[in-house]
Amino acid sequence: MKRYRKLLFCLTGLVITMIGFAWFLFVTPIGVPILMYHKISNDDNIYSIRPESFDRQMQYLAENGFTAVSLPQLADGLAGKSVLPAKPVVITFDDGYEDNFSTALPILEKYGLRAAVFIAVNKVGQPGYLSWEQIQALQARNTDIGSHTLSHTALTTLSPAQWEQEIKKSKLELEQRLRKPVTFLAYPHGQFSPAMFDYLKRVGYTGAFSGITGLNFQDTNQYELKRISIFGPTLGLWSFRLQLAKSNIESLMGI
Ligand SMILES: [Zn+2]
Repeated sequence: MKRYRKLLFCLTGLVITMIGFAWFLFVTPIGVPILMYHKISNDDNIYSIRPESFDRQMQYLAENGFTAVSLPQLADGLAGKSVLPAKPVVITFDDGYEDNFSTALPILEKYGLRAAVFIAVNKVGQPGYLSWEQIQALQARNTDIGSHTLSHTALTTLSPAQWEQEIKKSKLELEQRLRKPVTFLAYPHGQFSPAMFDYLKRVGYTGAFSGITGLNFQDTNQYELKRISIFGPTLGLWSFRLQLAKSNIESLMGI
């Protein structure tokens, strides 16, 4: 009887430890999560997140002590030049959809969060996409603006001469319009090759965002930053929490 009691005691201890560990993974990222969004809309696009879901996700971040950091803060923090806040998060939007301004920005501002928007320059002003005036307004309201190239073609499918055009010309055009240095790029379709890193650095980019899933650490290559792509939630807020936890577990296991 005594032996069973001892066994029960050990098992209970083990279960409590496992629950504690699982809870820790749910609430505390061990690296910097960079969230990747596209559209915040009620349409049926696979890249769309409904405004009410986005609102709940941002509320979750704000209520759980996350601080949304700017892209320069992220770069300095990862380079060891400055200390990041306790629970940093980076919120990014790719492609430059109009709803980033009309729908996402008011929600971000409601929770005191900031974001970054990567613009595919040739799409500016097209139906459904941001205009230059809206991009300037985003910048004036605490949003970092980065390049998502000119044409949104996967850089790996282009010749080095072509991808250099996409990388450099998009930067110059954005800088001319925004009167501010543009030092970050998101690779279209998340596609890149290490051959691009030197060129990015040479023309003045501090970092580049990939489509590789994971968290970011001090040894993460700044031209290969990992992101967590947020898809339409099927389990409400739990989908979002599970995506954050999954990155934690994968980082711990070195995947
Ligand atoms: Zn894109």
